Amino acid sequence: MSGRMFVLADADSFYASCERVFHPELARRPLVVLSNNDGCVVSRSREAKLLGISNGTPWFKIRGQAQHDGVIARSSNYELYASLSRRMMRLMAAALPGQEIYSIDECFLRGFQDPQRTRIVCTRMRETVLQGIGIPLTIATAPTRTLAKIVSHYIKHQGGGIGDWDLLRSQEPDVLDRIDVSEVWGVGRRLTRKLQGMSITTAGDLARADPSRIRHLFSVLLQRTVLELQGIPSIELDDFDAIDGTRKQQLMCSRMFGQPITGLPDLSAAVSTYAQQASIRLRKQGSLAGMVTVFIATSPFNQDYQSRSGSIILTDPADDPLTIARAAVGTLPRMIDPHARYVRAGVMLGALTDAASYTTFDGMDAKRDNGLGTILDQANRKFGLQSVGIGWAGMKGKGRARQETGAAWNMKRHHLSNRGTTRWDELAVAKAR
Ligand SMILES: [Mg+2]
Repeated sequence: MSGRMFVLADADSFYASCERVFHPELARRPLVVLSNNDGCVVSRSREAKLLGISNGTPWFKIRGQAQHDGVIARSSNYELYASLSRRMMRLMAAALPGQEIYSIDECFLRGFQDPQRTRIVCTRMRETVLQGIGIPLTIATAPTRTLAKIVSHYIKHQGGGIGDWDLLRSQEPDVLDRIDVSEVWGVGRRLTRKLQGMSITTAGDLARADPSRIRHLFSVLLQRTVLELQGIPSIELDDFDAIDGTRKQQLMCSRMFGQPITGLPDLSAAVSTYAQQASIRLRKQGSLAGMVTVFIATSPFNQDYQSRSGSIILTDPADDPLTIARAAVGTLPRMIDPHARYVRAGVMLGALTDAASYTTFDGMDAKRDNGLGTILDQANRKFGLQSVGIGWAGMKGKGRARQETGAAWNMKRHHLSNRGTTRWDELAVAKAR
């Protein structure tokens, strides 16, 4: 597929921008949004950035000076952000095809062959979102996702707007040499250290590296990053968690199947299983998820290769396995091609917040694990992963895929007979209604 064009749309200072939507008096004022219990700065308006306030700063440390400087602080209002995100995503999906929601304020879209046309549509889309919702976007277009990320990063520093890779490179041919390698999408801190040891310190150095050497010394995933920097599309969204395993802003569970899967019931079983596995990690790190994204893909070696993704933004962040598995399975009906043979699926939990300090704006409780998750976690620790599960995942499988997924998807009789060994299944369904 030549001439593919990726469009990355990313809201500027999303939470801070959301706060301004219903409070126009906050426009042009330095504004910060604080994490739960007003702990740390999690979003800053441009004016607050110019004052030198950085993300993650504990509020108590800067409160005095900030208030002196006229900085306004807001507690995070997750429900508001989630609902504005949904509206914003819907408007963008109507403007361009192929939307893949990447985080609460960020999505990839597919551009057109004609760059002129893409630019016109992007400009219009940006105006629609700004006027319709009040959220400013930075929009970057590039032949690969990694380059789109670089363009976005670059123009954000210049105040946002719309940018294009070819245009940027024609104006500044050495732009990659001025970007630190650690800023490249998917290059974590750990990789940066090792790359620096090889004198690869900028994005430009990495782009000039020999892809096969990088694969030998690092991984096939970093090799794909090199190819992407060279303008060759090589990364699917679901590769990302694997590249940067250190990032805990999102949790991914994604696997190849032992055997291709066709049809909704089997795919639901797989996706539900992965969702529950991801939710184990979520509870382990004490987070709540605000968004559930599901990826499904057929074999890239087939002619009719297809890769799809769908997201659901949870009105209340959750760590409860039932809520998360339901949301994940709920994305499938509108994505699935009933005849396709899927070889891979993944579940990504995003928009994570700290469970310990989370309360909703109206004082309602989050969709907290009500004990079911804890019991599942204990059972899985004791008897092995996926020995116990709820709903679609209430099965115990044998065979090739067992170690990873707990299920041999094709051995239907086997997994049916084994479902009877777990009563948690019934417990979960009864509790849900
Ligand atoms: Mg953003």
